Amino acid sequence: MPEQLQSPSSVAGRLAVVRERIAAAARAAGREPGEVRLLVATKTQPAEAVLEVLAAGVDLIGENRVQELVAKAPAVADRVADGTLQVHMIGHLQRNKINQVLATATGLETLDSFDLARAISDRCVRDGRTLDVMVQVNVTGEASKSGVGPEDAVALATAVAALPGLRLTGFMTIGAPLEGATEQTVRSGFARLRAIRDEVVASAAPGTSAARELSMGMTNDLELAVAEGATVVRVGTAVFGPRPPR
Ligand SMILES: *Cc1c(COP(=O)(O)O)cnc(C)c1O
Repeated sequence: MPEQLQSPSSVAGRLAVVRERIAAAARAAGREPGEVRLLVATKTQPAEAVLEVLAAGVDLIGENRVQELVAKAPAVADRVADGTLQVHMIGHLQRNKINQVLATATGLETLDSFDLARAISDRCVRDGRTLDVMVQVNVTGEASKSGVGPEDAVALATAVAALPGLRLTGFMTIGAPLEGATEQTVRSGFARLRAIRDEVVASAAPGTSAARELSMGMTNDLELAVAEGATVVRVGTAVFGPRPPR
């Protein structure tokens, strides 16, 4: 790697490093780099920083909090409207904020209950539209994480896929923390998500044929996720630098 790519000071430079990490991980796994999409996690970043990553060619961003999603929506509205940018909600969603997400996001990666799914679907049907959703699975079973348990994931996904207002596009997970876990533990969590996806698609149940995405892998573990089949990696720190504490 050229010297100037090791710790670039610009967002564009750091993005280039991230893209090369993704491409190298894909090639190492015998996959095409184009099979893995980069989602830039823009939480805590101001709208100007979001516009900077868009200028550097990013076409998929994710927000964790509805409040930030809504605050930055005007800055990206043109790109969303002309279809050149997708905005995913990647944080936990409370039912009372569904309308705000429908107004500002193009997809939701954190569906983890049928009640929430039905409430969103009902509103989409009322509005004559659909929303792309992924089912979030808590592959590690940590109590602190949201997501449906792996044992319930296939049933939830199948039920979600049948709802008229939702389009199930795949599955999302947050891997086990690398500190205190072996790489093998982290990888087996990602492999679990892939097995869930494979089972749901193989079921051929109504609405499951498009459910092929695996959103997994972040700054610290994206190589492991790509090795296990990630189709979307969600990266924040490697693009923007460390976040200040909230
Ligand atoms: C912040 C965040 C990311 C990105 O994490 P980094 O370690 O900063 O790359 C990915 N996914 C979710 C759900 C996040 O909240």
